[in-house]
Formats: sequence, C-alpha cells, structure tokens
Amino acid sequence: MNLHEYQGKNILEGFGVGIQRGYVATNSKEAVNAAKKLTDLTGTECHVIKAQIHAGGRGKGGGVKLAKSISEVEKISNDIIGMSLVTPQTPPEGKKVNKVLVAEDVYYPGDSELKEFYVSVLLNRTSGKNMIMYSTEGGMDIESVAANTSHLIFYEEIDPAMGLIPFQARKVAFNLGLKNKAFKSMIKFITNLYNAYVGSDATLFEINPVLKTSDDEIIAVDAKVSIDDNAMFRHKDYHKLRDLEEENQIEVEADKAGLNYVDLDGNVGCMVNGAGLAMATMDLIKQSGGSPANFLDVGGTADAKRVELAFRLILKDPNVKAILVNIFGGIVRCDRVAQGIIDAYKNIGDNIKVPIIVRLQGTNSDSAKTLIQNSNLDVIAATAFEEAAMKVQEVLS
Ligand code: GDP
Ligand code: MN
Repeated sequence: MNLHEYQGKNILEGFGVGIQRGYVATNSKEAVNAAKKLTDLTGTECHVIKAQIHAGGRGKGGGVKLAKSISEVEKISNDIIGMSLVTPQTPPEGKKVNKVLVAEDVYYPGDSELKEFYVSVLLNRTSGKNMIMYSTEGGMDIESVAANTSHLIFYEEIDPAMGLIPFQARKVAFNLGLKNKAFKSMIKFITNLYNAYVGSDATLFEINPVLKTSDDEIIAVDAKVSIDDNAMFRHKDYHKLRDLEEENQIEVEADKAGLNYVDLDGNVGCMVNGAGLAMATMDLIKQSGGSPANFLDVGGTADAKRVELAFRLILKDPNVKAILVNIFGGIVRCDRVAQGIIDAYKNIGDNIKVPIIVRLQGTNSDSAKTLIQNSNLDVIAATAFEEAAMKVQEVLS
C-alpha cells in the first residue's frame, strides 16, 4: 500500500523523526485555515502548497508552489486542487489532485547553510537485508544523479536480525559530510527513520529532500512510503490510509469480489486456477511471444459466477486482445468449468470481442472439450499447455 506524503510524515513524526510541519486540506478554505494555524506555530506567512498524489516529481510538474501570504495560499490551493497533475512519474494524462498539504516554508531564501540530502530505507530482496541508500546530492534531480554519477550514492546494509547498529548511523552521517550538531542530528534522524521503517512494516521510506536547516536540525521535507500489504493485519489503524482512488480500479473491484487480480501491461488476459499455474501460464505466454495483461487466480472454486466475474474484469482492460483460460480440474470438475465458461459467455454476450482460448485439463476434461466444441461459441479449445500458447500466438498474429 502506497501512502500520501502527509500520511508518511505522520508516521515519521510518531517515531520522533523531524518533519516539515503541515496540515492537509481538501479545499481552499481548509487550506487557509491550515496556513493560519501554521503561522501561529512558526511565525511566518510563507507556506508551501503541495499536491498529494501517489507519484513523485510533483515539483517538476507544478504541484509544489510557494505562497508568500494567506491570500496566495487561497489562490494556489484553488489552482492545484482539482487539477490533473502531470509529472515524470504519472500516466501521460496525469493524476487528479484531491488534497494538498499546506506546509511551513523551511527554505529561507539566500540561506547558504541549507543543505539537501537524499535518504531512503528499503528492502533489498537480493540480499534479504534492509538497506539505507543515501546521497549528498538530494533534491529534485536524484534520478539523473543515479543515472550519471552513481558513485555519489552510498549504501548501508542492515541485517534485520541485528537491527541498525549505532556505528552504521554514524557512518551515514559522516559520509554525508556533517559535523558537530548536524552530525548528531543526522544520527538521530537515521535511527528514528529506521525505527519507523521497521515499526510500520514498510518496504520503502524515501525521503528526498532531507534538509539540514541553518540551526543544524535535520528534517524530512518529503516522504514516499510503501507499507507491506502482508503486514497490514498488524496495523489495523493503517487501513483508513488506503486511498482507493489512487489504485488500479480493476484491482480494487477484484479485491472486493475476493479474486486475486494483478494488472500488467501486456495484451493476453489470463484466467487460471492456482497461483503456481498462473505464474507458469504467464511464463508460457511470454515464451511464445505474447505478453500477459494480468495475473488472475480464480481459486479452487472456479464456478460459473466466478468465471463470469473474472471475464468481466479481464474485459475491462482495453489492452486485452485475447484471453487464455487455463484451468486444472483437480478439486473442480472440468465439465463444470466448461459449462461456467459457456454460461458466462452467453451472459456477457456482445461485450466479448476478443478470441478466447480454453485449456481444461484434469477430471472430465474430455467431456469439457466436447461441451466447448458443441457450444458454437467463438471459443478455441486446447488440451496441451504448449498447444494453448500456440493458439494464443495464432490469434494474435
Ligand atoms: P516531489 O517533487 O514530488 O519529490 O516533491 P517534494 O516534496 O520533494 O518537493 C519538491 C521540491 O519543492 C523540493 O525539492 C524543494 O526544492 C521544494 N520545496 C519543498 N518544500 C519547500 C519549502 O518549504 N520551501 C521552498 N522554498 N521550497 C520547498
Ligand atoms: Mn521529493
């Protein structure tokens, strides 16, 4: 589950990490109230208005703007809320902004003591360890730093069983070139950030920029956070942080129906029972020159209703040019699944405009094949796995 910046910052604050303070607003009136509250805290009328969408690069796309007065807060938040924000990380049509974070301005103009860093904590799946990735070159161009001057990015691996050892936090602060109070502040920042990452069962905490202020405090100006979905049962209070509008709508619908659906960017829709067979099916599609449009495990009870629902979900993806149904009849009988497919086909009717290749193997597979062949529907039956993949290739070419 991905979080918005303001949600990530709330978690950080709970773990004692210094943050750029702010309040979230859904309209300009709330934004003005937020700004007034902040002015009471900070004494300045300068605020930064930040679009809250699940994508980075907002600064480049015009989603982060400085307001020098309360009336500017009103105008800018009015402009940003409701806009379709296009950044290097959004789809070409952009993402609709529903909320802004009104934050204190932490960059004092002309302050040469300010320094921006990059710090993230993430899971390194190759080594099975957590990793702190950091750089002195924080700010809006970290992607080009990584691409062109990768030696400026440092890594510190943390054994999850040992946890972060104090010398590791000191090493990070040292490599970032900090001294005295700023050095100590950074150690505290890294330690608490790592605690936030572990304590919230996150797979990513990316803070860019991390700011060293002129009084040598270290604060998080941005926060990109992903929580491990498998750990959500341990964080009941995080469920309300899920923003369904930011997620793939087909996946949201599938989730409600209890179907395991993951959207992919290929053109062959897959309907399979069992996660292992689903993975193998995607491999086979790839090997035979196609590309899977989704992962879909309809589960052990592939009855007519579920089959129909699965078809409807797959057909919502406009990229789908063919559908491969690959069902192994172990618990479920193939003839029942075949009947389910025929019923679903009839119910959905004209909406099915792509060829469907069905491979049913296992209990009663012969009578299933006969049922499909006699149904007079535009469904191609296959018996062997490779045969099915070849038929997919044929209909696509
Ligand atoms: P991103 O572009 O989506 O990563 O959004 P960020 O939260 O990182 O903000 C983008 C940029 O806005 C930062 O790199 C800063 O340069 C700038 N910015 C953020 N907060 C402030 C602020 O309080 N004052 C000023 N002047 N600039 C800020
Ligand atoms: Mn950022």
